[in-house]
Amino acid sequence: MHIDNEIKLDFKDVLIRPKRSTLSSRSKVDLVRPFKFLHSKIEYSGVPIIAANMDTTGTFEMAHALGKHDLSVALHKYYAAEDYVEFFKKLKVKSNAFYSLGIGSSDLKKFEEVMEKAPGAIQYVCIDVANGYTETFVSFVSSFRKKFPDLVIMAGNVVTGDMTEELILAGADIVKVGIGPGSVCTTRKMTGVGYPQLSATIECADAAHGLGGLICADGGCTRPGDIAKAFGAGADFVMLGGMFAGHEESGGEVIQKDGKKLRAFYGMSSKSAMDKYAGGVARYRAAEGKTVYLEDRGSVEGTVQDILGGVRSACTYVGAKRLKELTKRTTFVRVTQQLNEIFGKS
Ligand code: 5GP
Repeated sequence: MHIDNEIKLDFKDVLIRPKRSTLSSRSKVDLVRPFKFLHSKIEYSGVPIIAANMDTTGTFEMAHALGKHDLSVALHKYYAAEDYVEFFKKLKVKSNAFYSLGIGSSDLKKFEEVMEKAPGAIQYVCIDVANGYTETFVSFVSSFRKKFPDLVIMAGNVVTGDMTEELILAGADIVKVGIGPGSVCTTRKMTGVGYPQLSATIECADAAHGLGGLICADGGCTRPGDIAKAFGAGADFVMLGGMFAGHEESGGEVIQKDGKKLRAFYGMSSKSAMDKYAGGVARYRAAEGKTVYLEDRGSVEGTVQDILGGVRSACTYVGAKRLKELTKRTTFVRVTQQLNEIFGKS
């Protein structure tokens, strides 16, 4: 038995230390990043924030709303093939939407059908499994890369440098990082498995960048400051579920309770999701996600402004003119307290 005694950190354990800067206004900060992907060689230019491929955030409506600000959406995988065909045929900026799939044969079949009916329309793909450590997953990524050399492949999830490298070598352009940090995830509770997200981001980014690959920090951001910390830690992309949930553009059942409008938000491995898509929780497994009801947050527009404003301001505090410079200019300080909550937790 081995214990790694080095302390691993989460967003809540650190703050970003301010630095001297010549920047006079946050409006001068450029959040658009250019990338050229390692395998597909495609050139990307956008704000590298992605709504999660959950059916309550990865919707067509969300893609339209976030696309206006150059952000992206990883679509959930439960639309009908013809709906994807229609959506992708009309999509102008390809990086606004990732097509998501798991590694099951029905997911692949649906993807190939959409590719056939909308040739050239999809450029960005997210191959997503809860546990990216299996050989089956790595060989799926590798054969997918052989079949589709020109697509941008994001694949995950993993939380360690060794597996990040393995996925990049197998053909991933972007490795998705995060096991257990999600707002509606119960993996850590049910399995005891996980890795603090800030450290996972730092370690996986280091491994990926060494090979010319990129990472997407997925899960655990609860406020704009956490997104700034994820970028500061080396994330090239950041994926958000909970922060984009509960809006008009999110999917999810709407209910009225005590005169309030609430929207359901649940993990993709929760009982709610499995009841909806898999005819219930299979006997051999336990649900690893939960369901919450969020007060309606209106249009996602306001949330996008908050997020972009927060990240821009973080850049100004450390003197980063461009998002690209944020990592270089970030020094984290370990803290025992984040916020003064004397007047409440919001
Ligand atoms: P959030 O931004 O809400 O903290 O995290 C979003 C991420 O949580 C998703 O992108 C996905 O990786 C993860 N996630 C979504 N549903 C589930 C689930 O049911 N179980 C687990 N373990 N993770 C989930």
